[in-house]
Amino acid sequence: MEEGPGFPFFLPKGMVVRNELENFWRQVHQKNGYKEIKTPIILNEALWHRSGHWDHYKENMYFTKIDEQDYAVKPMNCPGGILVYKSQMHSYRELPLRLGELGLVHRHEISGALHGLMRVRCFTQDDAHIFMLPSQIKDEVLGVINLIDHIYKLFGFEYHVELSTRPEDSMGSDEDWENATNALIDALNAAGLEYKINEGDGAFYGPKIDFHLKDCLGRTWQCGTIQLDFQMPERFDLHYIGEDGEKHRPVMIHRVIFGSIERFIGILIEHYAGAFPTWLAPVQVKILPVTDRANEYARQLEEKLKESGIRVEADLRNEKIGYKIREAQLQKVPYMLILGDKEVEASNVSVRSRKDGDMGAMSVEDFISKIKEEIDKK
Ligand SMILES: [Zn+2]
Repeated sequence: MEEGPGFPFFLPKGMVVRNELENFWRQVHQKNGYKEIKTPIILNEALWHRSGHWDHYKENMYFTKIDEQDYAVKPMNCPGGILVYKSQMHSYRELPLRLGELGLVHRHEISGALHGLMRVRCFTQDDAHIFMLPSQIKDEVLGVINLIDHIYKLFGFEYHVELSTRPEDSMGSDEDWENATNALIDALNAAGLEYKINEGDGAFYGPKIDFHLKDCLGRTWQCGTIQLDFQMPERFDLHYIGEDGEKHRPVMIHRVIFGSIERFIGILIEHYAGAFPTWLAPVQVKILPVTDRANEYARQLEEKLKESGIRVEADLRNEKIGYKIREAQLQKVPYMLILGDKEVEASNVSVRSRKDGDMGAMSVEDFISKIKEEIDKK
């Protein structure tokens, strides 16, 4: 919208997809030992000097003033995650500490570069920062690689991997960069992943592994990244208490899997050509009475499905059944329940699936348990 170029709006159906994705993200991260945090969108300018964003990323940032003081709108979630780590003492026993954040970031893009959900000025990263002992690097990177593999496969994406090395505009010593790059190569080899090298395309604070998705049209999209960072722990003077009772420097991973939630949804819409799997579909079931004699039953059924947590709409318009079916097909609704006199009489439903076509009559309970199982399995 012209009131916010590059600032996307989410309408109700898009919001359903987004919430499902975020819920799924939370579930899978909890299972994998992540803790969720939320950090502020606006933080003072001194923080961005310390993080290096001021020197290396200022062109892409927005600024504001509060009480005469200079503040910046975060373009990345890292400094917030680091402040959370720093807010407490840590023992080596607590590491690795995996802090996840669905963090809203703003980055300036020139208006000519904006493109639908694919290139925007504000988006939510499914971010996480992992703080760990140097000896844990390989296992942690491998863990993230496996998590990304699991998630991409669930959506039916193939992917390839690239290793991005030190860019010209960067901070840190040659030795740190070499160690970090070698650690990523070790993990890639351990995962048995082939990779291509992307010279000079790393982040300013460390090298990264990029995951490039291939959608069903054969186009590729860079989504996931795993970045290894020895610099920020130094800049922010992070430490943990080691087995020897002394202070030591942790190593950090920055990682995203979807990348930007907004862009990932854009990719999914095209990948599925609008035919979302049942767990993501904004409307999962359409109830279609053949005549208005079935309307009352349709209403009761709609209530019952809603109570079971299913996203359902009853189409009670006075239209021919063929017309209602075609419309539901165009909307790519996963299931239609067709209710004629026979179904009202027997208190059952005739099921038509987007994928498998006519599935015949079944009891309401059987349909509910079938669709719920499908939603749970994803
Ligand atoms: Zn980060």
